[in-house]
Amino acid sequence: MAGPRPVVLSGPSGAGKSTLLKRLLNDFDGVFGFSVSHTTRNPRPGETNGKDYHFVSREVMQKGIDKEEFIESAVFSGNMYGTSKAAVQAVQAKNQICILDIDMQGVKSIKKTDLNPIYISIQPPSVEILEKRLRDRKTESEESLQKRLRAAREDIEISKEPGLFDAVILNDDLEEAYGQLKDSLSEEIEKAQSGKKS
Ligand code: ADP
Ligand code: 5GP
Repeated sequence: MAGPRPVVLSGPSGAGKSTLLKRLLNDFDGVFGFSVSHTTRNPRPGETNGKDYHFVSREVMQKGIDKEEFIESAVFSGNMYGTSKAAVQAVQAKNQICILDIDMQGVKSIKKTDLNPIYISIQPPSVEILEKRLRDRKTESEESLQKRLRAAREDIEISKEPGLFDAVILNDDLEEAYGQLKDSLSEEIEKAQSGKKS
């Protein structure tokens, strides 16, 4: 199916991916659709099952993986996460730009598929600022926070690999980062908007 190219947003936990993608979804009504992942982690206050994630048990997730229902899956910070084929198809069926929020393992797996997305990495100004943002978010236990910081250090290094991402956006000032994100996606946004008008 020849539709708009999907977008992969990746980067350390706490870098600002959800904040930025929620703004895109709000500001461009009907242009973007979020690929709702499955996860075995517990919902945070304010998260809705089926909207932020499909919150499932390990058994259910593993069965889905065994039945080849997932495009990719990974273990992050002790929990399973994965993108189901159905999640991406649901967005593409509406002819929307499908946004995937996935970790570095997911990026590497998606590279082996024919999804052909635009790869964007969202990076924090420093590990110290990332830690402060994660602590201020008040969603993680100390153990989970430390695991996320360990993964973040790795992510920051890997994201420097030439050619891995189409754009690496530094999320220091939120407005600036959001402007850069919109610029990186301007061609696809224009195509999607003109497609909707015609
Ligand atoms: P991610 O989805 O990448 O894990 P979030 O979008 O949840 O990250 O952002 C982590 C925290 O940092 C949130 O509390 C968010 O409000 C805050 N945040 C995001 N971007 C910025 C920024 N540019 N400056 C300050 N705080 C930010
Ligand atoms: P969180 O628990 O903070 O929502 O997400 C933790 C990490 O898992 C983030 O880096 C996020 O991008 C990643 N993630 C969320 N969904 C998926 C998914 O479906 N696949 C992969 N590989 N990573 C995911």
